[in-house]
Amino acid sequence: SLEGKTAVVTGSNSGIGLGVAKELARAGADVVLNSFTDSADDHAIADAIAQEFGVTARYIQADMSSAEECRALVEKAGRCDILVNNAGIQHVAPVEEFPIDKWNAIIAINLSSAFHTTAVAVPQMRANGWGRVINIASAHGLTASPYKSAYIAAKHGVVGLTKTVALETAEDPITANAICPGYVLTPLVESQIPDQMKTHGMDRDQVVREVMLARQPSKDFATVEQMGGTATFLCSDAAAQITGTTISVDGGWTAL
Ligand code: NAD
Repeated sequence: SLEGKTAVVTGSNSGIGLGVAKELARAGADVVLNSFTDSADDHAIADAIAQEFGVTARYIQADMSSAEECRALVEKAGRCDILVNNAGIQHVAPVEEFPIDKWNAIIAINLSSAFHTTAVAVPQMRANGWGRVINIASAHGLTASPYKSAYIAAKHGVVGLTKTVALETAEDPITANAICPGYVLTPLVESQIPDQMKTHGMDRDQVVREVMLARQPSKDFATVEQMGGTATFLCSDAAAQITGTTISVDGGWTAL
């Protein structure tokens, strides 16, 4: 059980981050949710998790594109035993047309944020005598596709950061690993299916198999619950010697 542990999950008012926060709460962890907004809905998500799982759940607003706000998030959490760096954005364009502001935002949110939160969390973990750093990278942290230069550079960077942090904490009871999802069925992905059906003149099953999951051999999406389950496993005693590595949850994508 993760009772008594506090998990800070960046970018967790939707999608994978929310799924991971829920599974960690199900395992007994107190959770800190985050995004850059500060709406009643954001706080209501935390309240619902507290209700459902009987843990303490808080929502703390912080923009992961800002070094100061990343660091302040971990400080405001007060305690961080499990750090899940999940916040991420995407932009698709050929490298010669890739907007500079999009490049900078993706590097800041998808890569640098993990550096800033980790820098504040690791000393706390050392002081508390236990810690888990879990970075949500991607199959695109291990392989590439055209037109996603910033995202793929950032995700490869996250994998490198993960290995380095693992070596620096190797003799502490702390591990650092990256989860590399393939295509995950989140509300955002779900919402793209009707458009794709129209564009390609295909039914849902065809769009999923032939367009969206063209590179995912299982021809099935991974789920946010599976990401949460993998994160929970990385927090278990069974995973205490798993550090500095990547766990692909990608239906065979990176085996191709
Ligand atoms: P999503 O858009 O549902 O979630 C992204 C989260 O990050 C949201 O909660 C959003 O509010 C937050 N966020 C965005 N910008 C932020 C900022 N500046 N500050 C704080 N929070 C911010 O997408 P998702 O699919 O759940 O993605 C989560 C992570 O998983 C990302 O790092 C993404 O790259 C990675 N990933 C997703 C997939 C997939 O198929 N969905 C596959 C591989 C990796």
